[in-house]
Amino acid sequence: MIDYDAPLFRPPSEAESLILQATIGCSYNKCTFCSMYKSKKYKVKSFNIISGEIDDLSAYSNVRRVFIADGDALALETSLLLKIFKKLHETFPKLRRISLYGNTINLLQKTDLELEQLSKAGLSIIYLGFESGSDFILEKINKGVAKQDQAKAVNRAQSSGIDISATIITGLGGKEHWKDHIEQSAELVNITSPKYLSTLTLMIDPNRKEKFTAPFKPGFTPQEDIGILEEEKLLIGLINSPGRIIFRSNHASNVLPLSGILPRDKGKLLKQIDLAMGDGTGIRPMWIRGL
Ligand code: SF4
Repeated sequence: MIDYDAPLFRPPSEAESLILQATIGCSYNKCTFCSMYKSKKYKVKSFNIISGEIDDLSAYSNVRRVFIADGDALALETSLLLKIFKKLHETFPKLRRISLYGNTINLLQKTDLELEQLSKAGLSIIYLGFESGSDFILEKINKGVAKQDQAKAVNRAQSSGIDISATIITGLGGKEHWKDHIEQSAELVNITSPKYLSTLTLMIDPNRKEKFTAPFKPGFTPQEDIGILEEEKLLIGLINSPGRIIFRSNHASNVLPLSGILPRDKGKLLKQIDLAMGDGTGIRPMWIRGL
């Protein structure tokens, strides 16, 4: 049995995947809204340890999907990732999909050749947090990158054949900056056309609230449910990407679960949001939201 280093996170769509923890924590770990890996010191496991863990999991011979944790396994050296992918394919003959979390910083550190090598070796999806397309918000949350960096990173990954699953965090601009946050985020989506897009809703760890709000001078007023729905509505309404985007808002934090193809299903999704805004249809009660 694998002794995972908790807490362990994975995207909702990787619920059926085998999880291999190749790194501990996040190599960046400075985003002010994120408390996922604050209790962990970043560490890379050696290939020998990772290889031993894959051997320990080899009894699961039907594995088709593997998700590599923790917070940004894309930070690993390309040569190490390639060795891990090779070992995974040798161990699990039915393996069809390898995915991991990555961020714009580590994506931009890979050359085009490295991205092509990773793609050919089986890396199918990088889960990447846009969080916002607004440079103002990105600076306030200390994301360490600007909108143009995110656009460049995603376009390079997709050109190499790796799909991007991007996330935007509703509520991130508060009541003061929500329009800029959403308008710029929609523009980022339109210029990148990620294959998958999801929204999650801002949930700040009470212990990190001060650190998160302090940069938003003169203040940050959290959005209520109705404001979050207004953001979803504006975002979906503004998405006119030439590509086909699989959209989901099925994260545990979301006010209203939505799913569809954008821009094709825009009308249906906007109608669902209008209903929720009118009489609360479909809104998830607060007690089932959370992580
Ligand atoms: S890069 Fe991702 S995992 Fe790391 S601190 Fe930022 S949001 Fe959290």
